[in-house]
Amino acid sequence: VEVQVTVAATTLLGLDELPGELAGYGTIPADVARAIAHDPSGTWRRVLTDPATGHLLDYGRTVYRPPAALRDHVIARDQTCRFPGCRQPAHHADLDHTVPYPHGPTSAANLGVLCRHHHRLKTHARWRVEQDHGVFRWTTPSGRCHIRRPEPLAEPVANPPGKPDAPQRDPDDDPPPF
Ligand SMILES: [Zn+2]
Repeated sequence: VEVQVTVAATTLLGLDELPGELAGYGTIPADVARAIAHDPSGTWRRVLTDPATGHLLDYGRTVYRPPAALRDHVIARDQTCRFPGCRQPAHHADLDHTVPYPHGPTSAANLGVLCRHHHRLKTHARWRVEQDHGVFRWTTPSGRCHIRRPEPLAEPVANPPGKPDAPQRDPDDDPPPF
């Protein structure tokens, strides 16, 4: 018998304390949801969701093509190709299974944006990549490591009354050298 527990991906990572959902029972506290989700007995089916939308983030090995909500989540997280230094925007790029399906699941933690060029490079050249929830660790053919972290997202924080909008700074605009 499998019992389903639904928990936000961020709560499972310990970043927040959103309540979970136990199928047939109802809401459970975050620490209980985490304990159940980490239980190795195999009794529990863990369902990870995006706390902002409630959409499912892990389809395991049941589907190859990421459903639209999962795709949107990964694109919002990655924004550009995840190859070191590449700024090709996600809408011109592919979603790649970091660990090829079906060895790796169709989940947010195993999908990443790669432009066509770097997708081919990953598939056919001797670059290796590992992912830890959006953090991509690349190893070059000569053994050097590059870590690519998610770009910080603009926080949807309302400005206090009376204060003008802060100017948006482009992260590509490095200060001049002198
Ligand atoms: Zn690229």
